[in-house]
Amino acid sequence: MDIMSLTSPHIRGLETYEPPDWEALAARAGVPPDRLIRLDANENYYAPSPRVAQALSRSEAFRFYPDYGPLKEAIAQYAGVGPEYIVLGSGGDEIIDLSVRLFVEPGEAVIVCPPAFSMYGVSTEAHHGQVLSVAREADFSLDVDAIEALVQDGAAARPKLLFVTSPGNPDGQSVPVETILRLLELPMAVIVDEAYIEFGGSSAVPLLEDHENLIVLRTFSKWAGIAGLRLGYAVTSPAIAQAMNRLRPPYNVNSAAVAAALATFEDMDHARATISTVVAERERLQSALAKLPGIEPLPSQANFVLCRLEGRSGRELAAALAEAGILIRSFSAPALEDAVRITVGRPEQHDALLAALRSILSGQPPEPSLVSQTSNPQPPNRQASVERRTRETDVTVTLSLDGTGRYEIDTGLGFLDHILAQIAAHGLFDLVVRARGDLHIDEHHTVEDVAIVLGQALDGALGDRSGLVRMGHAYAPLDEALARVVVDLSGRPYAVIEAGFDTPRIGAVGTDLLVHFLETLAFHARMSLHAHVLHGRNDHHRAEALFKALGRALDAATRQDPRRSSVPSTKGVL
Ligand code: PMP
Repeated sequence: MDIMSLTSPHIRGLETYEPPDWEALAARAGVPPDRLIRLDANENYYAPSPRVAQALSRSEAFRFYPDYGPLKEAIAQYAGVGPEYIVLGSGGDEIIDLSVRLFVEPGEAVIVCPPAFSMYGVSTEAHHGQVLSVAREADFSLDVDAIEALVQDGAAARPKLLFVTSPGNPDGQSVPVETILRLLELPMAVIVDEAYIEFGGSSAVPLLEDHENLIVLRTFSKWAGIAGLRLGYAVTSPAIAQAMNRLRPPYNVNSAAVAAALATFEDMDHARATISTVVAERERLQSALAKLPGIEPLPSQANFVLCRLEGRSGRELAAALAEAGILIRSFSAPALEDAVRITVGRPEQHDALLAALRSILSGQPPEPSLVSQTSNPQPPNRQASVERRTRETDVTVTLSLDGTGRYEIDTGLGFLDHILAQIAAHGLFDLVVRARGDLHIDEHHTVEDVAIVLGQALDGALGDRSGLVRMGHAYAPLDEALARVVVDLSGRPYAVIEAGFDTPRIGAVGTDLLVHFLETLAFHARMSLHAHVLHGRNDHHRAEALFKALGRALDAATRQDPRRSSVPSTKGVL
């Protein structure tokens, strides 16, 4: 007897998911497997909280079947609902599968809006459902009219379930809440897959109050960095949650995942630091990619960036990078043939990627990437991102104090970019500044507002200022010019600036505004700042020396003194 003849003929037609053959890929690239730079699977490249490792070492708990009560409570609190709204799954994948099983009878349909996550179709087909595709528009927005028409005009197979992804994969763009509200009016269940919601966009969870047909899918794979432990969940109406709980195997989520998730919630500072690091790295990667010829990164609210390529197929580019041991995602769907998706990784991984891309774009084969990858990388925790939007300017700054001097700066004012770069490079800060201001009026608002936001970011990154060295000073020469800067991160703003500029402008920036920049920065960073140009002839030299000295003085003052755990003030507070 052929045992396979007894299996469902339908299942025989399905394809097995095969993960990439890492060994073979590494051998081709000529690197050890642990040196592959895997920017293809939207995982999180920072280690989970050390508490997760501690929780997993308590193996005595693994003798017992899991108890889901505390985890459901914790997730419910995190999502802002009651525990009766939560269903746990072995990864978001199982929630997808349970949803199809719950709603779709053989021959009934599921609406999927490609390009979309492949598991929607895989689960539907596995359960004898039919996939109805409503392609997204060229800008990745949903074709709501076509979805409505399909449901209302009575398709041959009745659609029972609709999958939308927000932020979307592979595009990284959010679905507007008005669109989701419109879709929720349809007589079907709507899954809003929020696998990437922690990196941007607003959640659909509040819509559950009025919409029983909504299932919000979430996962711990991306933000919490525990993809390998397989934990996802649904936030849905108690009616659906109860029904799904009836379908799911009693112990579908393992005790290790439960322990790791509870430990993750105990250390949300770590998770928040990871998320803001990924978001800052995403912005930096996007800016750097945008500068490469023939690569157009799209805006993203997720932990990856989709890029359109000019005159090159995505597969070709991915194959060329794979030769250097760098893996990114390309697609076979015609709408994405000219695209690649790059997962946001760590700075050293991005540097290797960008170097390889530069070689490929200039027609050279890339060198195999041998960047040393930290084995257990922790996210930097002294960092802040600040956004400020007014009628005059739109400014975003991300500042990490424990950086390496990497920067991506674009304010629309070349000389302002130049002096901000001095602060980052000489202060060893990682700095991203993006500003768009009303330069058609003049440069005043842009210069001033960048100083405000940079000052706020510095203040935020310093936290409660405990353990700080607090004061710092530096001299910096530039040829004939010499500058001295003394700072005190005292919590009290004060500025004494003497630059002695001779000329009215340097590039497109008025020299009086450089003084104003420093005063504004001191005010918003809550520091006292004494900045003097001691001598010099050339104003560019004077200014550059001043900002180099500022970088070095801030580097000294923002360091932490290991001997000090409290706030460095006899008052006990800064
Ligand atoms: N939804 C989307 C859009 C995804 O990209 C993924 C994973 N890549 C998932 C759901 C499922 O994630 P997991 O099973 O790891 O929770």
